[in-house]
Amino acid sequence: MLTIQAEANVPTEYGNFRMIAFSESATDWMPHMAIVAENTDFSTAVNIRFHSECITGEVFHSKKCECGQQLDAAMKYIHDNGGIIIYLRQEGRNIGIINKLKAYSLQEKGFDTVQANLELGLPADDRNFSAAIEILNLLKVTEINLLTNNPEKVKIVESSNIKLNKRIPLQINSTLESKDYLKVKKDYFGHFLEDDDDIKNVTL
Ligand SMILES: [Zn+2]
Repeated sequence: MLTIQAEANVPTEYGNFRMIAFSESATDWMPHMAIVAENTDFSTAVNIRFHSECITGEVFHSKKCECGQQLDAAMKYIHDNGGIIIYLRQEGRNIGIINKLKAYSLQEKGFDTVQANLELGLPADDRNFSAAIEILNLLKVTEINLLTNNPEKVKIVESSNIKLNKRIPLQINSTLESKDYLKVKKDYFGHFLEDDDDIKNVTL
């Protein structure tokens, strides 16, 4: 069972947030995080982003995916409108950074992001969002607006005890390098990216 291990206020480029670490253990080096915007109103539906760790995209600004841009857009939106980013330690759709680099290496040989995982004997997407629901319960959030393009995340909330008020689309510019990846997300995972224009236009 997750519990709050530590929390503190952290000023960022996007404003002030309260950062809260959740784990089963106080010595966990990779706890899940809740990033709560100051002035968040908990008496109405809270804006929520479930974001899975992506060191290549967020830290090193890789152009192979849009995770870094999504996190930045979410931080800006959540700061401006109130809400919480729940940052989950499931790197590479939960295959870990070593397997992710192995999958990238296969992609250099022509595999797409899904085919590469399957070639390595790994699931296409091994993420689990039950920790996110647990964190919302610990923070006493009962109703949310979910920032996502991922129908799987919508389903997870709908099948939980959290009430989904509405989905807020999170659209990001594609780059030459991330275009094919976004196309797989749309075609294979069914993400709400209606057409090429949606992939191009940032609406947040
Ligand atoms: Zn990424």
